[in-house]
Amino acid sequence: MNYDVIVVGGGHAGVEAALASARIGNKTLMISMLAENVGATSCNPAVGGLAKGHLVRELDALGGQMGLITDEAGIQFRILNQTKGPAVRGSRAQIDMDRYRVIARNVVLNTPNLDLAQEMALSLIIEDGEVKGVKTDLLNDYIASKVIITTGTFLKGIIHVGEIQQSAGRYGEQTSINLSDSLRNDAKLDMARLKTGTCARIDATTIDFSVMEEQDGDENPSPFSFRTNTEEFRKTKKQLPCFIAYTNQNTHDIIESNFYRAPLFTGQIEGKSPRYCPSIEDKVSKFADKDRHHLFLEPQTADATEYYINGMSTSLPPEVQRDMIHSVAGMENAKIVRYGYAIEYDFVDPRELKHSLETKKIKGLYLAGQINGTTGYEEAAAQGIMAGINASLALQNKEPLILRRDEAYIGVLIDDLVTKGTNEPYRMFTSRAEYRLLLREESADTRLGHYGHDLGLVSDELYEKIKLKDKQIRYGAQLLEDTKFTPNKEFNAILDSMNEQPLKDVSTAQQLVARKSFDVEKMLKLVPELQEFSDYIKEEILVEGKYARYIDKQSEEIQRMKKYLKIKIPEGFDFTGVSGLSKEVQEKLKSFAPPTLQAAMNISGITPAAIEILHIYIKMAARKSKV
Ligand SMILES: Cc1cc2nc3c(=O)[nH]c(=O)nc-3n(C[C@H](O)[C@H](O)[C@H](O)COP(=O)(O)OP(=O)(O)OC[C@H]3O[C@@H](n4cnc5c(N)ncnc54)[C@H](O)[C@@H]3O)c2cc1C
Repeated sequence: MNYDVIVVGGGHAGVEAALASARIGNKTLMISMLAENVGATSCNPAVGGLAKGHLVRELDALGGQMGLITDEAGIQFRILNQTKGPAVRGSRAQIDMDRYRVIARNVVLNTPNLDLAQEMALSLIIEDGEVKGVKTDLLNDYIASKVIITTGTFLKGIIHVGEIQQSAGRYGEQTSINLSDSLRNDAKLDMARLKTGTCARIDATTIDFSVMEEQDGDENPSPFSFRTNTEEFRKTKKQLPCFIAYTNQNTHDIIESNFYRAPLFTGQIEGKSPRYCPSIEDKVSKFADKDRHHLFLEPQTADATEYYINGMSTSLPPEVQRDMIHSVAGMENAKIVRYGYAIEYDFVDPRELKHSLETKKIKGLYLAGQINGTTGYEEAAAQGIMAGINASLALQNKEPLILRRDEAYIGVLIDDLVTKGTNEPYRMFTSRAEYRLLLREESADTRLGHYGHDLGLVSDELYEKIKLKDKQIRYGAQLLEDTKFTPNKEFNAILDSMNEQPLKDVSTAQQLVARKSFDVEKMLKLVPELQEFSDYIKEEILVEGKYARYIDKQSEEIQRMKKYLKIKIPEGFDFTGVSGLSKEVQEKLKSFAPPTLQAAMNISGITPAAIEILHIYIKMAARKSKV
């Protein structure tokens, strides 16, 4: 019954936390309610998407599992925002959700040092401000000095379908009441309520796909994991289509005339909903001028027997769900297998956490996933691996691994949560990352692979490949910078043959590839030495060349910031006179009176942008005092 690390919960956060801990060499126990639901996807049958794809790639670079399982269980792969800049492209995969779950559970069961116990954790064992273990419903006391809680939507979960309310963690699964009380009363953590929701699933044999638009995966699909062999993957991967349908005025009328029965509007639901993933009743109410909304019909499994109606999340009563679904072209005769519902649950204010995801109040107690106020499998998994890594490092008396905002989306996610907190389910967006050009999906392995390798989560063989990739890209980027062209007749004739404007001044190949119209083919005409590299490396060299100016600017900004964080804030400095800061930030700084910009940065809710402004004011004050 003695372990090094106990992970409570076998969702996406729990799986990554437990695997990281066990693979680092700790005797690890995963306690989860239903063994067959380890790795279950509660809502949509998809992984990734804009910014979420970045999280999966980063997780993979650190040695996580989500990318590999997705590659195996995936049934459609697409790169979103293909036509936009590389920083905002996002990989997304439809998955066979049954297969995903089975693979995840098998990985857990086949991992050395990792045990799985199908039990419900009831309370924490805490002594003198330190966690000592977990008590379960089967009267087992499991002992460990590090405990990671990853209970998702299960804490005091209440499901709403119209006027019907049920206690549940997910539909058909028990809610977790005692553990919520233990976190609140024994660990004294600040907790509140949030809400999320899901849509109905319909029987494929009752859908008329012929009136819907088909949406196929990419012709040359790219795997999520850096460890998956792309060629092999492309040869063997079978993809399924999704379908696009639309709501109409009739659908909206049905929904609107039942607003009075919508738990979201009647006050039955108190928790805050995810703003960026609104229910259909929310969309119809907020965008009353829109005469239709997109619906994406996504297969739940490779058998495609049930379809998930993405875009129609709802907690309206069952008969209203039936009417609104039947009002959509192609779904007139659809039979509902599972009704949509909303779920309200307890979460912990993430400002209770350090950047390591350890709670500030209880030593050895870590929290990861939806319990910290996030929404999404990817956000949960990313926190899970970090909690698993940091609990392991603490056992070795080592400093925690804290990824910076300029280093990883995972760094942005955790920094946002623990410094600002959240009052609605937090999801990742590319716009949340100030340094997104440095944080491209494709560069996740070269950015983070060394951490995974140092921790023993990335093999020597893979790390050698990562180092070679980095070397080749650096070499190619340098070559672009060093290759110069003069605006003479011969060279301008070459440009003309490529439909490119002539050169006016001496230019580097890098300046030329920065032109919007430049692609790999044109780059190779200018610098044929790059021909020897693989297509993937050529693409990366082009991206580095195209954005070199901006990437350099962002890197300089980071270096500058690192330097000025050491700057002292004069005693008695008037924070209320800094006009660019919100009243709340001014008050916070006034009450903490930080001695340096670094100390100010460590205060919860103080953003890098606020530090920039403060820096300018301190410089101005220093200049004034000299005059
Ligand atoms: C109805 C619904 C709709 C959702 N809609 C969306 C959406 O639209 N978009 C989106 O991105 N995300 C959505 N999500 C959220 C998504 O499912 C989660 O973000 C993600 O699964 C969180 O992962 P997690 O590991 O934190 O928790 P979960 O995946 O919820 O896993 C929690 C695990 O903890 C276990 N557990 C809980 N309490 C105990 C206990 N006391 N003892 C032992 N084990 C315990 C459970 O059995 C489970 O294995 C939705 C979730 C639900 C339920």
